[in-house]
Amino acid sequence: MDFLRPTTWEEALAAKADRPGSVPIQGGTDVMVEINFDVRRPPALLDLTRVAELREWSMTGGLCRVGAGVPYAAVVGELAGPLPGLAQAARTVGSPQIRNRGTVGGNLGAASPAGDSHPPLLAAGAVVEVESRERGVRMIPAAEFYLGVKRSALEPDELIRAVHVPPATGPQYFSKVGTRNAMVIAVCSFALALHPRERRVGTGIGSAAPTPRRALEAEELLAAELDWEAPLDPALLRRFGELCARAAAPIDDVRGTAAYRVHAISVMARRTLTWAWNDHLKERAA
Ligand SMILES: Cc1cc2nc3c(=O)[nH]c(=O)nc-3n(C[C@H](O)[C@H](O)[C@H](O)COP(=O)(O)OP(=O)(O)OC[C@H]3O[C@@H](n4cnc5c(N)ncnc54)[C@H](O)[C@@H]3O)c2cc1C
Repeated sequence: MDFLRPTTWEEALAAKADRPGSVPIQGGTDVMVEINFDVRRPPALLDLTRVAELREWSMTGGLCRVGAGVPYAAVVGELAGPLPGLAQAARTVGSPQIRNRGTVGGNLGAASPAGDSHPPLLAAGAVVEVESRERGVRMIPAAEFYLGVKRSALEPDELIRAVHVPPATGPQYFSKVGTRNAMVIAVCSFALALHPRERRVGTGIGSAAPTPRRALEAEELLAAELDWEAPLDPALLRRFGELCARAAAPIDDVRGTAAYRVHAISVMARRTLTWAWNDHLKERAA
């Protein structure tokens, strides 16, 4: 197996163009597990850890641009202010060791329906920046990035450079069900972001469908019926939970049954909206 070690982004793009079968490796917390278990044996690994810019984040054009190599530990430590939903999700990933190595870019690259970054990226309205040497940059909304189980819109000659996330303008919450509190793959998860200026609520469902997805009908319900000045209407809250559950399409597997996941999504949807709404009303009263 060849080991390619570019030191600049241009070299990395050239290596991917010349060897489309090479597998990028950032933190290695997915790739190395697969290689150790012989799930795959790629002809070459494309090590991105020397491309320093991938580990940087910046505020650019009103958006938070998070390099594909920014580890979860940095998301938790440095981005909890602008990106509270993503930071909450990052806090639940693996263990301190995994959060030091594992990255949001790697989570996107793996495109597992259970990846914890995806629901908050969907709820916030993030856009994934990918690039190839031949065709340049493509900006792919998170909602269009996930195509199937562990399949994304990334082409074989493309690399993920960054993800652009609008900084929070209202409360955001992430909720995850697992069989224990740490080092656990989500049985299912849910993220919610209030966008008070647009009078809109964003959602993201994880591990309860072939891909991470938004609960579009539930979002439309709140856009039409939520009174942003008043306490939450219990009937509206219940319908929101039902529509979020209806957006899920889970399977039975070793981690949980489809029926349990559907139920849990409705509970998490109601809880996260209640938490966010309490914060919203407190902020208005302050
Ligand atoms: C013990 C353990 C616990 C875990 N717990 C969790 C958890 O709680 N929640 C969770 O979501 N995940 C968890 N994971 C999975 C993993 O840590 C995450 O998916 C992490 O985000 C992967 O990031 P990475 O940088 O290590 O990716 P890598 O392993 O380096 O890469 C992952 C995939 O992305 C591709 N890739 C990486 N960078 C790029 C790029 N720039 N462009 C294109 N493709 C790229 C790789 O080719 C590969 O297909 C766990 C893993 C382990 C081993």
